[in-house]
Amino acid sequence: MTLQIPFDNSYARLPERFYVRQPPVPVARPELVLLNRVLATDLGIDPAALQSDEGIAVLSGNAVAMGSEPLAQAYSGHQFGGFSPVLGDGRALLLGEVMDRRGRRRDIQLKGSGRTAFSRPGSDGRSPLGPAIREFIVSEAMHALGIPTTRSLAVVATGESVRRNGPEPGGVLTRIAASHLRIGTFQFFAVRQDIEALRLLADFAIVRHFPEAEGPLDLLNAVIARQADLVARWMGAGFIHGVMNTDNTAISGETIDYGPCAFMDEYHPQTVFSSIDRHGRYAFDRQAGVLAWNLAQFASCLVPLLDRDTDTAVRIAQGAVGAYPALVERSWGAVFAAKLGLAEIRGGDDTLAVELLDLMARQQADFTNTFRGLADGSAGAQFTDPAPFDTWESRWRQRVAQGAAPEAVAARLRAANPAIVPRNHRVAEAISAAEAGDLAPVHRLIAALRTPFASPDTATHALTKPPADDERVRQTFCGT
Ligand code: AMP
Ligand code: MG
Repeated sequence: MTLQIPFDNSYARLPERFYVRQPPVPVARPELVLLNRVLATDLGIDPAALQSDEGIAVLSGNAVAMGSEPLAQAYSGHQFGGFSPVLGDGRALLLGEVMDRRGRRRDIQLKGSGRTAFSRPGSDGRSPLGPAIREFIVSEAMHALGIPTTRSLAVVATGESVRRNGPEPGGVLTRIAASHLRIGTFQFFAVRQDIEALRLLADFAIVRHFPEAEGPLDLLNAVIARQADLVARWMGAGFIHGVMNTDNTAISGETIDYGPCAFMDEYHPQTVFSSIDRHGRYAFDRQAGVLAWNLAQFASCLVPLLDRDTDTAVRIAQGAVGAYPALVERSWGAVFAAKLGLAEIRGGDDTLAVELLDLMARQQADFTNTFRGLADGSAGAQFTDPAPFDTWESRWRQRVAQGAAPEAVAARLRAANPAIVPRNHRVAEAISAAEAGDLAPVHRLIAALRTPFASPDTATHALTKPPADDERVRQTFCGT
């Protein structure tokens, strides 16, 4: 069985100042922990070959596959509002690109592959195994929920330990993405006033993600629209990204960089899980606003390309960013109309959704189970004082019944509201078991998360339960 990956690399053809070439740093005793066979096949890679010694060597960075041109990408970024002119792949390497079975170009990247020219001083360029498994679980769950996201092809245990709070087992994740272009990639060249590189990068992004775009303004508008749609979908899933830095905002509109992200159990708009987000900058209900800020940074990078006259260019950029609030509102309205089982949107529907969320926040109702419960009449059980919910429910029933058969409404509700999301306590529990050598809980969890809208059976029912007090995970970590 020989491993063949049909590499077709375009990023490596860009000028040398876009990246630093280097091979991954080998690991001691690689062992395959998770493999996404369906995704491998979609990418035109034989999953059996990935499971062979040769495949595992490639997935761990111990061998460079034929046609792979490993490189660390350069980027900058605003992290928690502070600008770093040089970030870049400090613990990741782009192995190359393949065309998938639908003809889409996809990046194959190793995360945790060792030090690079961009590694933070004193950092090891590695990843602990736990966060690699966590990214696999959560990114694949996001995909099954229909939310644009990078994917996870494999997790390998390195047989080495990494030092974080104490020694932890090391891991390497293979990440698949439409691209790894970030707002921070544009910032890298904008801050250097490298207009030629900015132009090349914009053209590259257009060819890759928005072939219908005719120039940088179309690119800007398209990225704004995709990101507005993405953040609305996060809101609809109760998802908190946790580190919405500009280096973690993808031009493709995919969710990227699963660190301290989390799904909420009980709804509260100000929820924060990330241990490093001390001021709630990236709290659940701040995400759309932070994204506006990030997109303004993107727009300002493109200013030199938008018009020869700077004042005119700035006005064009501001106009594009000015469209964002209405786009988010529209996407949010569409997401929540679907969650309420509505086939079309009318005036007052947004208010109906907002009123439900207010009630949920006041009574700390479970986000996932309340919405899912609308389909079978069990939503009221999520409220300690059901009276205000009952009042809301009767108004909602009137609205939703207009011109729609009850079975059609219930089907729509079940298609928009998952029964199963990767709840923190279940993810943490599965990872602990994996670290102790038992992969069964991780496999069970991943399998259930593949069909989040199906009605749970007895085997998966426990995954729908919010945490008991002693199971609650109050903080999540970057795992870098
Ligand atoms: P992230 O938190 O993944 O968005 O990373 C922010 C920056 O820190 C990026 O430039 C990373 O490459 C770098 N970084 C994160 N973790 C490590 C690590 N373990 N070793 C070296 N650099 C790292
Ligand atoms: Mg990052």
